[in-house]
Amino acid sequence: MQMKNITRSRHLFAEACRLLPGGVNSPVRAFQAVGGDPLFIAGGQGSKIFDVDGNEYIDYVGSWGPLILGHAHPEIVDALRQVLEKGTSYGAPTEREVELAFLIVEALPSMEMVRLVNSGTEATMSAVRLARAFTGRKKIVKFAGCYHGHADGFLVQAGSGALTMGVPSSPGVPEEIGGLTIVLPYNDGEAVERAFEDQGEEIAAVIVEPVAGNMGVVPPAPGFLQKLRELTAKAGSLLIFDEVITGFRLSYGGAQEYYGITPDLTCLGKIIGGGLPVGAYGGRKEIMELVAPAGPVYQAGTLSGNPLAVQAGITTLRYLRSHKESIYPELTKKAEILQDGLLKAAEDAGLRLQVNRAGSLLSLFFTEFPVTDLETAGRADQGLFKGFFGLMLQEGIYLPPSQFESLFLSVAHTDDDLKRTIDAARLSFKKLGEGRA
Ligand SMILES: *Cc1c(COP(=O)(O)O)cnc(C)c1O
Repeated sequence: MQMKNITRSRHLFAEACRLLPGGVNSPVRAFQAVGGDPLFIAGGQGSKIFDVDGNEYIDYVGSWGPLILGHAHPEIVDALRQVLEKGTSYGAPTEREVELAFLIVEALPSMEMVRLVNSGTEATMSAVRLARAFTGRKKIVKFAGCYHGHADGFLVQAGSGALTMGVPSSPGVPEEIGGLTIVLPYNDGEAVERAFEDQGEEIAAVIVEPVAGNMGVVPPAPGFLQKLRELTAKAGSLLIFDEVITGFRLSYGGAQEYYGITPDLTCLGKIIGGGLPVGAYGGRKEIMELVAPAGPVYQAGTLSGNPLAVQAGITTLRYLRSHKESIYPELTKKAEILQDGLLKAAEDAGLRLQVNRAGSLLSLFFTEFPVTDLETAGRADQGLFKGFFGLMLQEGIYLPPSQFESLFLSVAHTDDDLKRTIDAARLSFKKLGEGRA
């Protein structure tokens, strides 16, 4: 096989490593878990990205979730161009913020009020502060392998890059802060029940990814989210859905609509910024009115509600809203085609593979056992994933460079893209199977 020429990416990475820790501005981009040097990207169009050496790839990272409409969607590009000519930031309210807030609360009725921030991390961090203020309690429950951004209290058995790099519990987090986080296994309703029996009166909130997407995709077991709803309500704790991935992805109304569960607070990010930095948190009015300046819980942001970012979000949500009857079934259909094709190809190559999927979110685990939590995710063969990733990249398929991340489909992925991906997987699985024989 002719290896792709990535000379310029290699050169840039060497330079970057002198100037940026690990050569990147977010850990999982560094390809550390899969070996090799990361590609430097020069552009994207639809379902494709192009590296600085001129290679083309079918992209399944989609900037880690935001790009549900694909790269450089013409409506977003046009809308941004118009905003740009009127200035990029005022630090004063704009009409657009009202419109984005309206679109969000309309789609997720549990969010009666919303605060816009700049990232998912800000959203989750602020939601926990608010939950603590509202309940007057200190402890939070999170689940092992879930990722809620990089605020101190969440970097305890965290997923995503923290898991990929082997630092799920980060140095620099004081044990006094980490000690306020109760970590339980995902999908283990009984463990949550016991935690509430022991310390229910101290628990401010349970925060959960309603579909875990940061230890690979792990859907909730039947009844798990319901159980969280019941236990928190009974104990006077808040249920926080971290829908930074699932919001406007699993369905237009997110996981809460998809599974029919109403959380107290919701965190959003990724899609609501349409590829620019936006996050949001919101919930019932009585809780949200504690946020400054309506109330005493402080939270602010120089660039919060930034005109360009908010416009990218509005254009994305408007597009999804007017096409939702077709978009969500079609995205799911594409994910099913991929899932079926990958499973069949792995079977033909004699490899044991699980493909976990919820809606258009999916990920691969090289194991014969079902993956339902962090422990079972950790039993998958990471060496095989690494080999698979490298082979697929040579075939022009850009997968998330980690076992513990979701593939993200967009409306721009075509049937031909899916077919090419499955053909490439067939070839790669065969090589991996032969390598092991
Ligand atoms: C990406 C992500 C975050 C953090 O969002 P950032 O914008 O990267 O800070 C939080 N929660 C979940 C579930 C995520 O996937």
